[in-house]
Amino acid sequence: MILHGLKQATGGASVSIDIFQNKINNVSPTNTIDDTDTLQLYFNDALVFPGLINSHDHLDFNLFPKLGKRIYTNYTQWGAYIHQQFKYEINNVLQVPSELRIKWGIYKNLLCGVTTVVNHGERLSLDDALITVYEDTHDLHSPAFEKAWKLKINNPLKRKLSVVIHTGEGTDEEAGDEIHRLISWNILHRNLIGIHGVAMNTQQANHFKAIVWCPQSNYFLLNKTAPIHQLKHNTSVIFGTDSTLTSDWNIWEHIALARKTSLLTDEELYNSLTIEPSKTWGLNTGQLTPGKDADIVITRRKDKKKDLDAFYEVSPADILLIMHQGKIRLFEQELLPQLAPDLRGMHFSLVKINGSFKYVEGNLEALISEIREYLPEFVFPIEIIGRQII
Ligand SMILES: [Zn+2]
Repeated sequence: MILHGLKQATGGASVSIDIFQNKINNVSPTNTIDDTDTLQLYFNDALVFPGLINSHDHLDFNLFPKLGKRIYTNYTQWGAYIHQQFKYEINNVLQVPSELRIKWGIYKNLLCGVTTVVNHGERLSLDDALITVYEDTHDLHSPAFEKAWKLKINNPLKRKLSVVIHTGEGTDEEAGDEIHRLISWNILHRNLIGIHGVAMNTQQANHFKAIVWCPQSNYFLLNKTAPIHQLKHNTSVIFGTDSTLTSDWNIWEHIALARKTSLLTDEELYNSLTIEPSKTWGLNTGQLTPGKDADIVITRRKDKKKDLDAFYEVSPADILLIMHQGKIRLFEQELLPQLAPDLRGMHFSLVKINGSFKYVEGNLEALISEIREYLPEFVFPIEIIGRQII
């Protein structure tokens, strides 16, 4: 398949991208590739960038509404508060079978152009997920909520895996001390990837391979985020959303907020969603170059804005096509005539998102109606129009 008429989000070059099986085969100045055997898909100066990498989510927690009504000093205070105040709401969501909650968590990410999500928690080991669910890590919840974390972190059998752990999610002294304890107890010098790090200082950042920055969740809970403008000099900064317990379903809202803080430059923020996490997790994505996995997002360019300015204007309604590992997972309705020969026999759902119609792989109608058996009031950000076998 060759995708024509694209403008890169970095550098702004006009390109055509040739995909062979699950890889990018060639990226060249637009319309110079001539291979008539393959499907050619034409866009009109659309924006193209690598599928986004969401480095922190809890896929099974995305049917929760945001829980919490005030600002907390740390995550243990918030945790105690919500379990006391929102017992009914929490139990109500947890009665939905986890398989359904996880499926929705995957769609939450896919609808925004996320093609890799790093799930935190128990291993899900999903077959045939619509996006990459990266789990090749040793996840510990946090020093406060993970029992025997000091033993687990020093388990020699797991020493090759990075330890991914919530840490420093607070504004009080305890949050800073917790990071200190974590570093001191890492006797085997395992690779540490810290989630949140709101209370982290630059010295502590030196001990982490990366920090997962989740600004929207941080502001919701603590009205403060990590000093990323300082930490970025000492560790790698990668971007995460966390679940809808503490943030919006739509990663583009998170990205807009992150940009507003000016803690990263436009380029650094873009890299925190693409090349940086690709390096941290050891993925073959995050760049549009030959040999990389074909994880690609194509969107409209609002007001013909250029490069990263166009990237930061994207919303899910603007997405024209999402490719994951060379497979088309989502596309704008108007592309159906061009794509139909290639997608024949596949199941897609037609959905409306903010006035725009998209085909999304799989049976979203069935998923939503199954979830509604448990949560009749849940408001999904999409409207189902129908489904069809193409
Ligand atoms: Zn989390």
